Amino acid sequence: MISTKKLHIAPTMADFDDWQSELAAAVSDIHALFELLNLPTPHTPYAPKKFPLRVPHAFIAKMQQGDMNDPLLQQVLPDIREALPILGYDTDPLAENHHNPIKGLLHKYRSRVLLTVTGACAVHCRYCFRQHFDYAANQPSTHEIEHVVNYIHQHPEIDEVLLSGGDPLSLNNKRLALWLDKLSGIAHISTIRLHTRMPVVLPNRIDEPLLQLFANCQKRLVMVLHINHPNEIDDAFIAKCQKLKDAGVILLNQTVLLSGINDNADTLARLSHALFDAGILPYYLHILDKVQGAAHFDLSIEQAAAIYWQLLELLPGYLVPKLVQELPNRPFKTPIDIHRYVDWQKFDQKSNH
Ligand SMILES: *Cc1c(COP(=O)(O)O)cnc(C)c1O
Ligand code: SF4
Repeated sequence: MISTKKLHIAPTMADFDDWQSELAAAVSDIHALFELLNLPTPHTPYAPKKFPLRVPHAFIAKMQQGDMNDPLLQQVLPDIREALPILGYDTDPLAENHHNPIKGLLHKYRSRVLLTVTGACAVHCRYCFRQHFDYAANQPSTHEIEHVVNYIHQHPEIDEVLLSGGDPLSLNNKRLALWLDKLSGIAHISTIRLHTRMPVVLPNRIDEPLLQLFANCQKRLVMVLHINHPNEIDDAFIAKCQKLKDAGVILLNQTVLLSGINDNADTLARLSHALFDAGILPYYLHILDKVQGAAHFDLSIEQAAAIYWQLLELLPGYLVPKLVQELPNRPFKTPIDIHRYVDWQKFDQKSNH
């Protein structure tokens, strides 16, 4: 929960006419960001041209003033270590190119397809596994939406469609309405799922026309949010979650396990409770995808398993996200077998005393 003692540093909604102008005002200048946070400007900030700094004011407002190590700041601040090539960290770590039968559609798991409906995001998360993805080559145009729909029609084993990207909520309501309409016309689709970070980084994106669109949708709607730290959850966000639930949307969350951000059981347990308070159930805890430029966020599987073991001790089962790893060419997200990595007898002896 955001504390009231934090200084009010972000422009309020009153400063913007709509979410689009708020999005356009996202901070992309490192000096401006440091100034907003009362931090001394670095001498030679790392400012990559490809995948540059990008963070909306609403997310900056949740950061702690004067704290260079703030877990939200560290998720968005470009770091010189991104430029180091590290063996084993590639531009297409999931070999997604192998499961891309037509433009904009990934069919990797039997019953679900993932659509990259846009390349745009409101925020640039430094660990993002799609930061090297060729969106220009993968965004279906209006005309190409028909190809996507035809493909799904021809594959009756598909019962769920994921709208992803990029962030699907960077599309405007009209474009989203088109997608929902086209997908709703396919009888064997029962669920449409949106994977988005937008409600967290720019809550005003959840506007009335969008809520109307969701409320009127013929298919079951699931929203998988992406939140990594309890400080990302504030009152504005919680209020929007309530509205989404009122519109009939089921809310889940996925988290990426990130070194220096959330790599301890206490933070993850607080996150699960904060999510539950906001009406969201934890879904996945992901091992970082081995993408070029993100190695400094990675943990070993052994470290991840040990943290997860402690997390299991702290939480009721329904608040424990599944610890998984996305591996190339596997037909599902692979659960981590923590018994393989944790010396559990050590834990057992401890609890017997
Ligand atoms: C993660 C993912 C899905 C969805 O998997 P679930 O386990 O159903 O959440 C579908 N397609 C692709 C390509 C994915 O990466
Ligand atoms: S919002 Fe998601 S897709 Fe966009 S940069 Fe962040 S992790 Fe990547």
